[in-house]
Amino acid sequence: MRLTVLGASATYPRPGEACNGYLLQEKDTYLILDFGNGCMSFLARALDFARISAVAISHLHVDHFADLYPLFYALRFHPERPWGLPLYAPDGALEVLGRLLGEESRTFLPRVFSHRVISPGCGFEVGGMRLSFYPARHNVEAYHFRVEGGNWSVAYSGDTAYHDGLLDAARGADLFLCEATMPRAYEKEASIGHLTSRQAGEAARLAGAAELILVHIWPAFDRRVIVREAEEEFGGPVRAARQDMRLSLGE
Ligand SMILES: [Zn+2]
Ligand SMILES: [Zn+2]
Repeated sequence: MRLTVLGASATYPRPGEACNGYLLQEKDTYLILDFGNGCMSFLARALDFARISAVAISHLHVDHFADLYPLFYALRFHPERPWGLPLYAPDGALEVLGRLLGEESRTFLPRVFSHRVISPGCGFEVGGMRLSFYPARHNVEAYHFRVEGGNWSVAYSGDTAYHDGLLDAARGADLFLCEATMPRAYEKEASIGHLTSRQAGEAARLAGAAELILVHIWPAFDRRVIVREAEEEFGGPVRAARQDMRLSLGE
């Protein structure tokens, strides 16, 4: 399995980067986890949009779903009409998109995207990958993802405050993409719906993850500080996700 970071900034992008999106590829299966503002441009470097197998959206905040807007148009007017793309997203996702896209889109939205409503504990097969959802703790309905292949597993926190359910999603994962929006000194501020560096490290340690990749770092903060603080808590390998970063598992 190959993972490409399409974007990893929190809420607004760093220069030359995008907000959250992660492309998982195994053989001919291309699964996208979140598709925030700016991801479309970086995905276009890697893939014809017609080849996307499915998109999963953790929650309906723009830094996690905004580029469904251009993706809709890319598919809607694609010469091969690759419609019916499975879109795993919280209830109401097409209504939210419809309000952004306007009246004309409403006929085509449910034809271009085949919305599968996600809920706690549900799971789907995408090619040879198994995708599961765990409720997160955020200020809107939100999920952690876990994706498993034959000999690998990836967990992704989405946006969340610290809670035990995060550990269930990340249990023994080979790769844990965990948000670390703020440095450890900001634990009180983060508690409204995000994690600090230290909490990401603690979650990785308690879940027994093999490697921690920090995502959703607020652009105003120094990634090196966030990585160091998470390392001190985790005790295992930690990196900050970078634009276009590529990782391989199970090969
Ligand atoms: Zn976010
Ligand atoms: Zn959010």
